[in-house]
Amino acid sequence: MVKNYDVIVVGAGFGGVVCGALLAKQGLQTLILDKNTRPGGKQTGFSINGFKFEMWPTYGIPIEIGPFVDAFKALGIESKLDVIPKNTALMYRRPNGKWITTVTGGRQETDPTENMFNSWNLKPKEREVALQVLAEAAVLTPEQLDALDDVSVKQWVAQRGEIPKPLFGFFAVHSNLMATGLYELVAMSEISRIMQIFGSSTTGFPRGGYSRVVDDILKVFKANGGTLKLNTRVEKILVEDGRVTGVATKDRVYKSHIVVSNAGLQPTVLKLVGEEYFDKGYVGYVKDIVPSLGFCNQRYIFSKPVMKYGMFLGTSEDSYIDVDRLAEMKKGKIPEVLSVYGVCPAVFDPSMAPNGKQMLLIGAWCSPDPDAKEVRSVQKKVDELFEEMFPEAVSYIESKEGYVGPAQVSKLSRDSVLPGLGGEAVGLAVTVGYCGKHKPSPKSPLPGLFFVGHDAGGGAFIGTHQAVSSGLRVAPLVHHYYLEKKAVLRQ
Ligand SMILES: Cc1cc2nc3c(=O)[nH]c(=O)nc-3n(C[C@H](O)[C@H](O)[C@H](O)COP(=O)(O)OP(=O)(O)OC[C@H]3O[C@@H](n4cnc5c(N)ncnc54)[C@H](O)[C@@H]3O)c2cc1C
Repeated sequence: MVKNYDVIVVGAGFGGVVCGALLAKQGLQTLILDKNTRPGGKQTGFSINGFKFEMWPTYGIPIEIGPFVDAFKALGIESKLDVIPKNTALMYRRPNGKWITTVTGGRQETDPTENMFNSWNLKPKEREVALQVLAEAAVLTPEQLDALDDVSVKQWVAQRGEIPKPLFGFFAVHSNLMATGLYELVAMSEISRIMQIFGSSTTGFPRGGYSRVVDDILKVFKANGGTLKLNTRVEKILVEDGRVTGVATKDRVYKSHIVVSNAGLQPTVLKLVGEEYFDKGYVGYVKDIVPSLGFCNQRYIFSKPVMKYGMFLGTSEDSYIDVDRLAEMKKGKIPEVLSVYGVCPAVFDPSMAPNGKQMLLIGAWCSPDPDAKEVRSVQKKVDELFEEMFPEAVSYIESKEGYVGPAQVSKLSRDSVLPGLGGEAVGLAVTVGYCGKHKPSPKSPLPGLFFVGHDAGGGAFIGTHQAVSSGLRVAPLVHHYYLEKKAVLRQ
């Protein structure tokens, strides 16, 4: 017998589990299917030799505000969010090659902007300019932010006239780091919204890692009658008479008049449903959405707890990737200094590593192409930069492992359905025309088909937050659709 569900969610990434849990809590019979053996999508958790970790460095859950707080409240598990703040480090490489470290984040009392200007070595006049420009970027009304959806970081910076080079570097680098895109393409509103959130809340790392957060959400899902099936790849989203009727896996069909896909906007439209069910204009729109950058990284195991900072960013005024540099990187030319991002989970939560040891996840940005040729060279450069940044830690590296990149990102999350895409680190839609008020609609043109996750429907802020906020916004839409159609759907 084929069982009918009120809703089927394809994918147990952050967007899928938040949306599924909220719908189950509303009383809808909800099924989540995921192709992986563990839930969490890009933030799937691993446990090896006493270490608990996600496959790449991940950080940045605000403790007081933001979608994680809202989602845990909506699910009635507010007290379980349990995010741990600790000192983090911004490491800046001056043009003379010297690395300057300023401790920030966590509950640090010092002024992070002043620290940043010191590491940039700004003169008093330059400080004034920098302070004014940063304030213009971060202190904005919602209307002003909205307007910046249509302005790229490059355009916005150009409008500021002559600015100190490290400040230019800040915006170009943070287009890569915070918005995971290129400064010529990323919308200034993304950067401003991220600066506002970082400026107004303490951020941290969740106790037990991001996968523990997923598990807590799934407990609510299951307690409310939701069914989770792992190791179950959806091959097709079924359509009859112009509306969704369910999904097919390799050996069975699951029926529902509502399917919410967390499998990525492009793979859903172009592969799981199929182009033929959408008009050409929509297919063209979907194909044109710009992906985020990719990321590649490795893990170091330390024989003693040498890392002091739970998270660090290593940048310079020149460590950004722009359109031209990305093209060069693809041909094998790696910039002298890359921005480096590292997270050491055990600094936040000692239970993430066996006693007396640490694991560091460290990497850098690259193209989102699962076949990206530059990955090995970028990882090699990251190894070199680590030695330069943390010489005192090098002799305690017991082993280096887990060299991964866009191919593994795609494998854990979305299929590659367009040349060069699929391994995007955060997802689609961080650029002018596709974010903020232009974010792709979570409601597809096909009745009964919705999208959830980073690509559609979410608000601003970094990766996981876009996905969680999408889950929060899409669940009521789906519920409304369900109620509206209930009489018809139950015929
Ligand atoms: C290297 C890296 C570093 C990151 N760093 C950060 C960070 O520091 N901070 C931050 O907030 N975010 C970070 N992110 C981004 C964040 O992980 C993602 O943006 C977010 O988790 C995406 O969630 P999602 O809901 O869109 O779904 P995804 O995580 O993409 O999950 C999609 C799910 O759908 C499933 N699926 C796909 N196709 C099918 C199918 N056919 N059948 C069944 N199931 C299917 C997949 O198995 C997967 O579980 C990082 C990501 C990467 C890769």
